[in-house]
Amino acid sequence: MRGIVGLTVITFLVIIPTLVYFNSSLNSRYQENINPLDYTEEFPTHLSENVDQNSVHGEVIMPKLGNATIKAELGRSSWKLLHTMMARFPERPTKDQKTALRSFIYLFSRLYPCGECAKEFQMILEKHPPQVSSREAASQWACAVHNIVNRRLLKEEFDCSTIADRYKCGCAAES
Ligand SMILES: Cc1cc2nc3c(=O)[nH]c(=O)nc-3n(C[C@H](O)[C@H](O)[C@H](O)COP(=O)(O)OP(=O)(O)OC[C@H]3O[C@@H](n4cnc5c(N)ncnc54)[C@H](O)[C@@H]3O)c2cc1C
Repeated sequence: MRGIVGLTVITFLVIIPTLVYFNSSLNSRYQENINPLDYTEEFPTHLSENVDQNSVHGEVIMPKLGNATIKAELGRSSWKLLHTMMARFPERPTKDQKTALRSFIYLFSRLYPCGECAKEFQMILEKHPPQVSSREAASQWACAVHNIVNRRLLKEEFDCSTIADRYKCGCAAES
């Protein structure tokens, strides 16, 4: 009987307070170490090898973007980003680099902030999957899909034979 009472006293006075102390100390240490840019455990840094294919090829995420002015501004900036990316893509990409670009384009088509544009773009991608075998192939592909959007919006088509003059790769001194 005395043994049970002694054990109960030790449990309440020693073991439980000790566990509570260690638990709160661990929590506060964890919170101090949180770095918003450090998601390496949940999100592998070597993305293209570990990328979740379901995430890359899923449905459009964003809602409709009604405002025509914002839609046009967003479009101009986005095309600039895409064409410049292609202009600086390696001439002879590795398998990893090809996978990275392809994955980026599919994710871009999911996350593009204009939902209705993204849906149209996904339909274009179904017929015309990204070409990532070289800088030239990627640049020509982006030019061609931009022209498909241009046609649908009744805009002038771009002469894709001049794409390398319009979007410079900047590959000389600074690269
Ligand atoms: C993926 C995507 C899908 C879109 N879908 C829609 C949509 O469904 N509905 C909608 O209203 N808007 C959509 N937009 C926006 C639309 O394409 C235009 O960006 C927007 O209407 C502004 O047009 P803009 O005339 O200023 O020139 P933009 O089409 O934005 O082009 C910018 C500049 O790029 C150059 N350029 C034009 N064509 C090409 C080409 N083929 N290759 C290389 N350079 C070129 C020209 O110098 C042009 O001034 C989409 C944009 C993107 C990125």
